[in-house]
Amino acid sequence: MPTKKDYYEILGVPRNATQDEIKQAYRRLVRQYHPDLNKDPSAQEKFKEINEAYQVLSDPQKRAQYDQFGHMGDFSGYGDFDFGNFGRTFEDIFEDFFGDSIFGDLFGRRERTRTAPKKGADLRYDVYITLEEVFFGGKKEIFVSRLEICERCKGKGVEPGTSPIKCDMCNGTGQVRNARQTPFGQFVQITTCPKCHGTGKFIPNPCKECNGTGKAKKRRKIEFKIPQGVDDGYVIRLSGEGEAGENGGPNGDIYIYVHIQPHKIFKRDGQDIWMNLPLDYLIALLGGEVEVPTLEGKEKIYVKPGTQSGDIITLKGKGIPYLNNPSRRGDQKIIVNITVPQNLSPKERELLLEIAKLRGINIENNKSFFEQIRDAFRK
Ligand SMILES: [Zn+2]
Ligand SMILES: [Zn+2]
Repeated sequence: MPTKKDYYEILGVPRNATQDEIKQAYRRLVRQYHPDLNKDPSAQEKFKEINEAYQVLSDPQKRAQYDQFGHMGDFSGYGDFDFGNFGRTFEDIFEDFFGDSIFGDLFGRRERTRTAPKKGADLRYDVYITLEEVFFGGKKEIFVSRLEICERCKGKGVEPGTSPIKCDMCNGTGQVRNARQTPFGQFVQITTCPKCHGTGKFIPNPCKECNGTGKAKKRRKIEFKIPQGVDDGYVIRLSGEGEAGENGGPNGDIYIYVHIQPHKIFKRDGQDIWMNLPLDYLIALLGGEVEVPTLEGKEKIYVKPGTQSGDIITLKGKGIPYLNNPSRRGDQKIIVNITVPQNLSPKERELLLEIAKLRGINIENNKSFFEQIRDAFRK
């Protein structure tokens, strides 16, 4: 393990340095080594060291402990604990420390972010479509309530024919300076001007339509296309249809989440659709034509004689189109479910008993099912 460097050495201050000297040294070093400002890879490590040293030496109690026991007092971790977080900007650190953006004027960050173009908010909508719509694709519409640039003032927030004036509170700078007492001494604190909210401008006659916000809620009908073959969870992005951007920034987008409603007849499985077909026992027995539903309408199919319950009849190409190649489709799978009549007429019964006799099934003597099975094996 490398020996830890002396905290006083790190900050470059004498052991009897005052809190003021420590703080000044820290400020100087942060400007020199903060990863936002110093792109040298070694700066990060150095910056961490500086923070750790400062955390200890700026706290009179920890400093006394350190003076007495040195690094034995286990001060490690301070660097990570608070200021070692490199995700935070140089400015953030000073905001925490000294109040609102003491270096705002040095770096102009605040000013830039306030007037920088910003993309408008994205909006999410959910649509519920039928399996038929998945099959055919097609147009759909939604009603969207979104913030748009105010038409009356063209987004300026100023009543037409009037103009904004320079803010008298901050003299157009957008910032106000205050002297502030902190645990580290007196600092000049720079805060955003409360009158103009940092814009430097004041609007004496705000737009009547938008109350000076420059934006207005509008309800719009938006049309979009459902591609053939979409699946549940598919997302359609409508670029630029979201809310208006700030300061000339682009509009946000609309994201439409597609949900597919359950179908009364069909169950989707990828590109295939499945259905149950109740089939009369006579058609199953003798074969014949039946009408089945498909996503395109009704269709006649031929059932071959001797069809069993559970048999699957496949209609090639009657399933769901492939999203990227809609001319190709999955299949329709039909599961046969044979039904028997529950209300035989005496005539039907008579004829059926005749058939039973022909097949060697003795119904008249009313043997139980198990007895018949047993007899069948004895033959
Ligand atoms: Zn307006
Ligand atoms: Zn102002």
